[in-house]
Amino acid sequence: MLSQSDPQVWNFYKREWRRQEEGLELIPSENYASLDVMAAAGGIFTNKYAEGYPKKRYYGGNEWIDEVELLAIERVKSLFGSPFANVQPHAGSQANMAAYFALLTPGDTVMGLNLSQGGHLTHGSPVNFSGKWYKVVPFSLHPETHLLDYDEIARLAEQHKPKMIIAGFTAYPRQVDFAKFAKISRSCGAKLMADMSHVAGLVAAGEHPSPIGHADVTTSTTHKTLRGPRGAFILSPSEETAKLIDKAVFPGLQGGPLENMIMAKAVAFHEAAKPGFKTYAKQIVKNAKALAKALLDLNFTLVSGGTDTHLILIDLRNRLLTGKEAQLALDAAGITGNKNTIPNDPQSPFITSGLRIGTPALTTRGMKEKEMEKVAQWMDEVLKSPADESVRAKVKAEIRKMAKEFPIYSDLIKE
Ligand SMILES: *Cc1c(COP(=O)(O)O)cnc(C)c1O
Repeated sequence: MLSQSDPQVWNFYKREWRRQEEGLELIPSENYASLDVMAAAGGIFTNKYAEGYPKKRYYGGNEWIDEVELLAIERVKSLFGSPFANVQPHAGSQANMAAYFALLTPGDTVMGLNLSQGGHLTHGSPVNFSGKWYKVVPFSLHPETHLLDYDEIARLAEQHKPKMIIAGFTAYPRQVDFAKFAKISRSCGAKLMADMSHVAGLVAAGEHPSPIGHADVTTSTTHKTLRGPRGAFILSPSEETAKLIDKAVFPGLQGGPLENMIMAKAVAFHEAAKPGFKTYAKQIVKNAKALAKALLDLNFTLVSGGTDTHLILIDLRNRLLTGKEAQLALDAAGITGNKNTIPNDPQSPFITSGLRIGTPALTTRGMKEKEMEKVAQWMDEVLKSPADESVRAKVKAEIRKMAKEFPIYSDLIKE
């Protein structure tokens, strides 16, 4: 028992459990994985080396590991309707790096959404491998609507002739038109990489357009709306691309795959194929729309005016608050969101003018539209007097009470 053998670590584990159980998790890239997923991730597959791919390993003893990895591959292919899949990337960043390795040569030009506008570090940020090893032409959202400006992307693509265009987003509250991205990519001879990390669960459930059939390669994390373990996968439309991707992941970038996490991915893909997951994904979007409406009614400004996904980006400038201040005040009241730059943010990425929130985790707990109204009211209350400790304490107590009605891991620890 860890509680006996290592009370120091156990103490922190218990406190984190309490935080997850008693607070409101509004970070849009987070979720609560099922007990089955977590059991798989923490199970005996931890112990096995399996460099290589199923039936072609560099270690013995992989007969059951192979079966599980093959199952994970079959399940993710069927979930997204893709002919080829690699389930070995340790994380989304590794999956993206593998796609770069497979399809580009260092020095090639890539186009992706500016990090400060909602792209990802791996989409060409100068502090990331993608910005250091490749020539980057970042594109921006439309300055007024804050929507993807496909005409402008097409113009830049025509001008710079990139080798790859990246359609992937971390703070974009609207649906992405992958068909338009594919048309632009084809017209300038670029490959299209779709990074559906944030919306994979919505895509699996048919609540967001799928990049499959449009993209030359699709990458995704497994732990966001898809509600699996921390990890990632890559989908390829052709055998030629799949071979390049496999080589890029191993031996190009990784050694032994995390077979325990691959088992947990297999479990998560199985869960995501069940009818209940469709209901879940539908409710994520319904909840996000309800939360957005309630926030608008309380005089919050939302980037792009609302949402049609799981994600909401609040522009805090009319509340005379920075993202950092808002995040800190909400955290003290038991509401976890994250500060985030808004398009053309006047503040630095450490301060920001925005707050990024989302509904995947709360929806997993079973919360619905009615609870979203309460969440908006609590946020309003805390952010009206962000330094008032009595307000925070009052809200925190109310949240704890509601969280008790929507238990998530309450059986995990008996105190
Ligand atoms: C989360 C995310 C990633 C990176 O995932 P990690 O597992 O944190 O490396 C990449 N791209 C997008 C669009 C993401 O949202």
